[in-house]
Amino acid sequence: EPKVRALVAGNWKMNGLRAGIAEAEAVGRALNETPAGADVMICPPATLLGPMVAALGDSTVHVGGQDCHVNVSGAFTGDVSAEMLADAGATAVIVGHSERRSLHGELDRDVRAKAEAAHRAGLSAIVCVGETAGERAAALTQTVVSRQLAGSLPDGARAANTVVAYEPVWAIGTGLTPTVEDVAKVHAAIRKALVARFGAEGQGMRILYGGSVKPQNARELMAVPDVNGALVGGASLKAADFLGIIAAYQ
Ligand code: PEP
Repeated sequence: EPKVRALVAGNWKMNGLRAGIAEAEAVGRALNETPAGADVMICPPATLLGPMVAALGDSTVHVGGQDCHVNVSGAFTGDVSAEMLADAGATAVIVGHSERRSLHGELDRDVRAKAEAAHRAGLSAIVCVGETAGERAAALTQTVVSRQLAGSLPDGARAANTVVAYEPVWAIGTGLTPTVEDVAKVHAAIRKALVARFGAEGQGMRILYGGSVKPQNARELMAVPDVNGALVGGASLKAADFLGIIAAYQ
């Protein structure tokens, strides 16, 4: 397994008013003192992108969006384009998070178009995939994940602009996690699919695990082959917890 630099990305979801930026600043300050062995990113609500970029100053912490529209601009009330995220200082955007898929009816082809929009704007796309509890119970995990990967990743995906996040839906926000054996199996299958489709670029793409990652389980998850980092929800909202996870990547 060639070494790829890990990425720890925090997904704040619709949490964190302006006051929450103090948490991001604390992460930035801590990393200035002890740089992490991983890239670190925080994805706040779109309204906080600009203030967060300003607050982070010259820290190495990256900032990303949580979703984007496929168009550059236009009559799309309430939406934000990938170009707008880039203009606000984002370097990446999460696309196809399970909450977007389930609550906004996003299909693989929508996610793929959003990933293409991200690339067009010069952003990395963090493309989320993962099975529901029902699909897992029906032994459909590999089927679902490979279908989502095939449908959600654009042909132009490269190691430098595409990250895959494996997030079992039943593990998000529940405190439940798959066994390390299950994580290893799914990540190995994702890597195989990426290499089959993208060759060397697929070898270099980062595959994050997401779903109830905490300081307590980050180390064992990080040790799994083909786990190249974490997508962190709840535990990214408190600097101490997020830094505890980042510490697993020293
Ligand atoms: C997420 O929603 O991306 C996530 C991983 O959430 P949590 O860490 O809270 O399970």
